[in-house]
Amino acid sequence: MDTEPKQSIESIPAFDAFRNLLVENIGYFPTFHYDRNGLAGHRMRIFRTPPAADIRYSERALVRYICLADIITLAVSQNRAELLTSGLCLLAGGELLRHNKFAGLAFIASAFRDHNFVQLGPRQVIDTAIRAAHKQVAWRAVVNLLFPLAHEIGHLPESQKLCPAAIHSDAIYETYSINFEQVRGFTGNFDYRASLLNAESPLNLPTLRQEVASDFFAVAAMTHLPTRCASSDEVYPLDEIVAGILTFPLVMGAESMALKWGAGKLELQDITLAMHCRYSVIIDSIRASIKAQFRGRQDVAEVCRVIDSAVDHNVSQFDSWHLVVWDAFLDYFRLCQRFAQHSIDDILQMLRESRADARRSLAIASHLEMLADDVHGYSIDPDNHKELHEFSLKMKTFDTIVLRGRNALLLN
Ligand SMILES: [Zn+2]
Repeated sequence: MDTEPKQSIESIPAFDAFRNLLVENIGYFPTFHYDRNGLAGHRMRIFRTPPAADIRYSERALVRYICLADIITLAVSQNRAELLTSGLCLLAGGELLRHNKFAGLAFIASAFRDHNFVQLGPRQVIDTAIRAAHKQVAWRAVVNLLFPLAHEIGHLPESQKLCPAAIHSDAIYETYSINFEQVRGFTGNFDYRASLLNAESPLNLPTLRQEVASDFFAVAAMTHLPTRCASSDEVYPLDEIVAGILTFPLVMGAESMALKWGAGKLELQDITLAMHCRYSVIIDSIRASIKAQFRGRQDVAEVCRVIDSAVDHNVSQFDSWHLVVWDAFLDYFRLCQRFAQHSIDDILQMLRESRADARRSLAIASHLEMLADDVHGYSIDPDNHKELHEFSLKMKTFDTIVLRGRNALLLN
């Protein structure tokens, strides 16, 4: 549990309005703890009488969300899928290093092949996001921080009940088929229907229904928040809210992709279709939920037209971004297959090649140090931990010098 107030999401100005909104809609706000340890996602315990819930909000999952949202935004805005491929490798490398040193190093060396990332430690990532959300007009940052939490709360039975009946009806089959028509142009044909019954697949019918209902709940919460926080003369931050929310399904897809380095092609297609199904329902939910707040106004027709045109504009941008994300998924998938064939010698050779470029070598070294120092997130076994430091040192040791921080030590 975290007690440092500067780290606290509850300290951002929008949080009180968020809490009140949820209490009005589900009757209570869950008790809420930060979980600094472990890599698992957010966890929740639900109590029936009286209705209550206890959420363990995983810092690690939040950091992963913020980092992926940033790297996706960067990759799609520059139309450079390879940036996202490297981001996925970085994430997979960090996770793999805990158990499988060589596979982890292969992913990390590959991530640094074209870019010298400087990744902040987990604490700094959250601090930076919270600082941004403290600013007056930073709705994108607020959505990044609160949408994943709202989505978790959306899994509560009280929240699930609030979703439109269509999500629980046969209409959901249409969501699958309409989105399949949209993605198969780039994913290729595949039999998604069998996955509806597969409990392991993100396309599994009960799983997707529940995720979509949680998304609906989170969209409703996020879209109502600006109205709750604003003074009467403020303009509704349409673009920031819409773009912030539409990033969510992309991040969820990228996260499943990064954590499945052994995936086959069908799993890759399943992840992409599930991501698209959630995206399409989220778009409808955004329109409905923003419009509902302006019902009863005299100029409601004009307001709805403005809302639709802002949503349409964002959607056409995100539609093209889905193609960039697919390219990154495919590249990452091919890399995973290639690394599975690599011997230890192949991987050491990759690292040796990295050392030919001093800047790359130093970037890898500080990344490995960051991972090794992240003792809360990474339950690395002690031997592996020591070796991580040694690898990092090796990357900074040349024939005649060792680089330590800003100092260069000459070797005899
Ligand atoms: Zn969920």
